[in-house]
Amino acid sequence: MADSTVSHDKLARRGLMFILSSPSGAGKTTISRMLLDADDEIKLSVSVTTRPPRTGEIDGVHYYFVDDAEFDEMVAEDDFYEWAYVFGHRYGTPKGRIRNALKEGQDFLFDIDWQGTQQLFQKDQQDVVRVFILPPSIAELERRLRSRGTDSDAVIAARMERARAEISHWDAYDYVVINEDVEACFDQVREILDAERMKRQRQTGLIPFVRELMA
Ligand code: 5GP
Repeated sequence: MADSTVSHDKLARRGLMFILSSPSGAGKTTISRMLLDADDEIKLSVSVTTRPPRTGEIDGVHYYFVDDAEFDEMVAEDDFYEWAYVFGHRYGTPKGRIRNALKEGQDFLFDIDWQGTQQLFQKDQQDVVRVFILPPSIAELERRLRSRGTDSDAVIAARMERARAEISHWDAYDYVVINEDVEACFDQVREILDAERMKRQRQTGLIPFVRELMA
Protein backbone atom coordinates (compact mmCIF):
# COMPACT_ATOMS: atom_id res chain seq x y z
CA MET A 1 0.00 0.00 0.00
CA ALA A 2 1.22 3.49 -0.77
CA ASP A 3 1.99 5.58 2.31
CA SER A 4 -0.06 8.74 1.87
CA THR A 5 2.13 10.60 4.40
CA VAL A 6 5.25 10.38 2.23
CA SER A 7 5.85 13.95 1.10
CA HIS A 8 7.62 14.81 -2.08
CA ASP A 9 10.47 16.75 -0.52
CA LYS A 10 11.31 13.97 1.92
CA LEU A 11 12.35 11.70 -0.92
CA ALA A 12 15.96 10.59 -1.04
CA ARG A 13 18.10 12.53 -3.45
CA ARG A 14 21.69 12.73 -4.54
CA GLY A 15 23.64 15.79 -3.40
CA LEU A 16 25.05 18.29 -5.85
CA MET A 17 28.25 20.25 -6.26
CA PHE A 18 27.17 23.88 -6.49
CA ILE A 19 29.91 26.04 -7.95
CA LEU A 20 29.87 29.80 -7.54
CA SER A 21 32.52 31.63 -9.56
CA SER A 22 33.03 35.31 -10.22
CA PRO A 23 35.80 37.83 -10.59
CA SER A 24 36.90 38.91 -7.13
CA GLY A 25 34.74 41.83 -5.99
CA ALA A 26 31.57 40.66 -7.75
CA GLY A 27 30.05 39.48 -4.49
CA LYS A 28 30.62 35.76 -4.58
CA THR A 29 31.93 35.56 -1.02
CA THR A 30 28.93 37.50 0.35
CA ILE A 31 26.47 35.36 -1.58
CA SER A 32 28.27 32.18 -0.44
CA ARG A 33 28.02 33.23 3.21
CA MET A 34 24.33 34.10 2.85
CA LEU A 35 23.63 30.74 1.27
CA LEU A 36 25.50 28.80 3.95
CA ASP A 37 23.66 30.71 6.69
CA ALA A 38 20.24 30.27 5.12
CA ASP A 39 20.43 26.66 3.98
CA ASP A 40 21.29 23.71 6.23
CA GLU A 41 21.56 21.23 3.40
CA ILE A 42 24.63 22.78 1.80
CA LYS A 43 28.15 22.85 3.22
CA LEU A 44 31.21 24.68 2.03
CA SER A 45 33.91 22.60 0.42
CA VAL A 46 36.96 24.06 2.14
CA SER A 47 39.90 24.39 -0.28
CA VAL A 48 43.56 23.85 0.44
CA THR A 49 45.93 26.71 -0.38
CA THR A 50 49.58 27.65 -0.19
CA ARG A 51 48.68 31.35 0.12
CA PRO A 52 49.27 32.82 3.60
CA PRO A 53 46.16 33.51 5.69
CA ARG A 54 44.70 37.04 5.61
CA THR A 55 43.72 38.75 8.85
CA GLY A 56 40.73 37.00 10.35
CA GLU A 57 41.01 33.87 8.23
CA ILE A 58 40.86 30.63 10.19
CA ASP A 59 42.60 27.41 9.20
CA GLY A 60 40.01 24.74 8.40
CA VAL A 61 37.19 27.29 8.05
CA HIS A 62 38.21 29.59 5.19
CA TYR A 63 40.95 27.39 3.82
CA TYR A 64 43.33 24.68 4.93
CA PHE A 65 46.60 26.61 4.84
CA VAL A 66 49.55 24.41 3.90
CA ASP A 67 53.14 24.91 2.71
CA ASP A 68 54.45 23.91 -0.71
CA ALA A 69 55.80 20.57 0.48
CA GLU A 70 52.44 19.58 1.98
CA PHE A 71 50.63 20.64 -1.19
CA ASP A 72 53.09 18.58 -3.30
CA GLU A 73 52.41 15.57 -1.13
CA MET A 74 48.64 15.91 -1.58
CA VAL A 75 49.08 16.16 -5.36
CA ALA A 76 51.28 13.04 -5.32
CA GLU A 77 48.69 11.14 -3.30
CA ASP A 78 45.88 12.15 -5.68
CA ASP A 79 44.02 13.88 -2.85
CA PHE A 80 42.58 16.62 -5.10
CA TYR A 81 39.56 16.73 -7.37
CA GLU A 82 41.30 19.66 -9.04
CA TRP A 83 43.93 22.26 -8.31
CA ALA A 84 45.20 25.44 -9.99
CA TYR A 85 47.64 28.34 -9.68
CA VAL A 86 45.89 31.61 -8.82
CA PHE A 87 47.91 34.79 -8.16
CA GLY A 88 51.08 32.69 -7.86
CA HIS A 89 49.71 30.41 -5.15
CA ARG A 90 48.19 26.99 -5.45
CA TYR A 91 44.57 26.24 -4.56
CA GLY A 92 42.93 22.82 -4.61
CA THR A 93 39.70 21.01 -3.81
CA PRO A 94 40.36 18.05 -1.53
CA LYS A 95 38.30 14.94 -2.30
CA GLY A 96 37.96 14.19 1.39
CA ARG A 97 34.52 12.93 2.18
CA ILE A 98 32.72 14.63 -0.73
CA ARG A 99 32.15 11.53 -2.84
CA ASN A 100 30.35 9.53 -0.15
CA ALA A 101 28.45 12.50 1.22
CA LEU A 102 26.97 13.24 -2.23
CA LYS A 103 25.43 9.77 -2.24
CA GLU A 104 23.77 10.60 1.07
CA GLY A 105 22.21 13.79 -0.28
CA GLN A 106 24.68 16.32 1.09
CA ASP A 107 25.18 19.37 -1.16
CA PHE A 108 28.51 21.19 -1.36
CA LEU A 109 29.23 24.79 -2.23
CA PHE A 110 32.44 25.50 -4.16
CA ASP A 111 33.96 28.94 -4.27
CA ILE A 112 36.45 28.23 -7.06
CA ASP A 113 37.63 29.87 -10.26
CA TRP A 114 36.92 28.88 -13.87
CA GLN A 115 39.90 26.53 -14.07
CA GLY A 116 38.71 24.57 -11.08
CA THR A 117 35.17 24.59 -12.42
CA GLN A 118 36.29 23.12 -15.71
CA GLN A 119 38.24 20.36 -13.99
CA LEU A 120 35.42 19.50 -11.57
CA PHE A 121 32.95 19.41 -14.44
CA GLN A 122 35.18 17.06 -16.41
CA LYS A 123 35.45 14.72 -13.42
CA ASP A 124 31.80 14.69 -12.41
CA GLN A 125 29.33 16.27 -14.86
CA GLN A 126 26.20 14.80 -13.35
CA ASP A 127 26.68 16.37 -9.91
CA VAL A 128 28.07 19.76 -10.91
CA VAL A 129 25.95 22.94 -11.20
CA ARG A 130 27.94 25.96 -12.42
CA VAL A 131 26.85 29.48 -11.51
CA PHE A 132 28.74 32.60 -12.56
CA ILE A 133 28.21 35.97 -10.87
CA LEU A 134 28.88 39.12 -12.88
CA PRO A 135 29.31 42.65 -11.53
CA PRO A 136 26.89 45.26 -12.95
CA SER A 137 29.85 47.18 -14.47
CA ILE A 138 33.66 47.31 -14.49
CA ALA A 139 33.61 50.64 -12.62
CA GLU A 140 31.48 49.14 -9.86
CA LEU A 141 33.80 46.14 -9.65
CA GLU A 142 36.80 48.41 -9.13
CA ARG A 143 34.91 50.47 -6.55
CA ARG A 144 34.06 47.30 -4.60
CA LEU A 145 37.66 46.07 -4.71
CA ARG A 146 38.95 49.43 -3.46
CA SER A 147 36.35 49.67 -0.72
CA ARG A 148 37.80 46.58 0.95
CA GLY A 149 40.78 48.79 1.77
CA THR A 150 43.09 45.83 2.21
CA ASP A 151 45.01 45.77 -1.07
CA SER A 152 47.63 48.08 -2.59
CA ASP A 153 47.12 49.80 -5.97
CA ALA A 154 49.34 47.23 -7.62
CA VAL A 155 47.29 44.38 -6.18
CA ILE A 156 44.03 46.10 -7.27
CA ALA A 157 45.42 46.53 -10.79
CA ALA A 158 46.37 42.85 -10.89
CA ARG A 159 42.92 41.86 -9.61
CA MET A 160 41.20 44.04 -12.24
CA GLU A 161 43.31 42.43 -14.93
CA ARG A 162 42.41 39.02 -13.64
CA ALA A 163 38.75 40.00 -13.30
CA ARG A 164 38.57 40.70 -17.04
CA ALA A 165 40.20 37.35 -17.75
CA GLU A 166 37.78 35.59 -15.39
CA ILE A 167 34.75 37.31 -16.96
CA SER A 168 35.78 35.99 -20.38
CA HIS A 169 34.85 32.49 -19.15
CA TRP A 170 31.22 33.38 -18.43
CA ASP A 171 29.95 31.12 -21.19
CA ALA A 172 31.35 27.97 -19.58
CA TYR A 173 28.67 28.17 -16.87
CA ASP A 174 25.12 26.82 -16.66
CA TYR A 175 23.72 29.98 -15.05
CA VAL A 176 24.84 33.61 -15.05
CA VAL A 177 23.54 36.09 -12.47
CA ILE A 178 24.28 39.83 -12.41
CA ASN A 179 24.90 41.15 -8.93
CA GLU A 180 23.37 44.62 -9.07
CA ASP A 181 21.64 44.19 -5.74
CA VAL A 182 22.96 41.58 -3.33
CA GLU A 183 19.54 40.47 -1.98
CA ALA A 184 18.09 40.04 -5.47
CA CYS A 185 21.20 38.16 -6.59
CA PHE A 186 20.99 35.90 -3.55
CA ASP A 187 17.32 35.12 -4.27
CA GLN A 188 18.19 34.14 -7.81
CA VAL A 189 21.02 31.90 -6.67
CA ARG A 190 18.65 30.16 -4.23
CA GLU A 191 16.08 29.62 -6.96
CA ILE A 192 18.74 27.94 -9.08
CA LEU A 193 19.76 25.69 -6.18
CA ASP A 194 16.14 24.78 -5.39
CA ALA A 195 15.34 23.94 -8.99
CA GLU A 196 18.50 21.88 -9.44
CA ARG A 197 17.64 19.84 -6.34
CA MET A 198 14.35 18.92 -7.99
CA LYS A 199 15.95 17.50 -11.13
CA ARG A 200 14.61 14.07 -11.81
CA GLN A 201 18.04 12.43 -12.04
CA ARG A 202 18.95 13.69 -8.55
CA GLN A 203 15.75 12.48 -6.93
CA THR A 204 16.83 8.91 -6.33
CA GLY A 205 13.77 8.32 -4.14
CA LEU A 206 11.41 8.85 -7.08
CA ILE A 207 11.61 5.30 -8.42
CA PRO A 208 10.22 3.64 -5.28
CA PHE A 209 7.81 6.55 -4.75
CA VAL A 210 6.31 6.30 -8.22
CA ARG A 211 6.27 2.52 -8.00
CA GLU A 212 4.08 2.90 -4.92
CA LEU A 213 1.87 5.47 -6.59
CA MET A 214 1.25 3.09 -9.44
CA ALA A 215 0.81 -0.04 -7.34
P1 5GP B 1 41.50 34.24 -2.53
O1 5GP B 1 42.99 34.12 -2.37
O2 5GP B 1 41.06 35.64 -2.77
O3 5GP B 1 40.78 33.59 -1.35
O4 5GP B 1 41.07 33.37 -3.79
C1 5GP B 1 41.63 33.63 -5.04
C2 5GP B 1 40.94 32.80 -6.10
O5 5GP B 1 41.22 31.41 -5.92
C3 5GP B 1 39.42 32.95 -6.14
O6 5GP B 1 39.05 33.25 -7.48
C4 5GP B 1 38.93 31.59 -5.75
O7 5GP B 1 37.71 31.29 -6.41
C5 5GP B 1 40.05 30.68 -6.21
N1 5GP B 1 40.03 29.42 -5.49
C6 5GP B 1 39.81 29.21 -4.18
N2 5GP B 1 39.85 27.90 -3.87
C7 5GP B 1 40.09 27.25 -5.04
C8 5GP B 1 40.23 25.85 -5.38
O8 5GP B 1 40.13 24.95 -4.56
N3 5GP B 1 40.47 25.60 -6.68
C9 5GP B 1 40.56 26.56 -7.63
N4 5GP B 1 40.79 26.18 -8.87
N5 5GP B 1 40.45 27.89 -7.35
C10 5GP B 1 40.20 28.22 -6.07
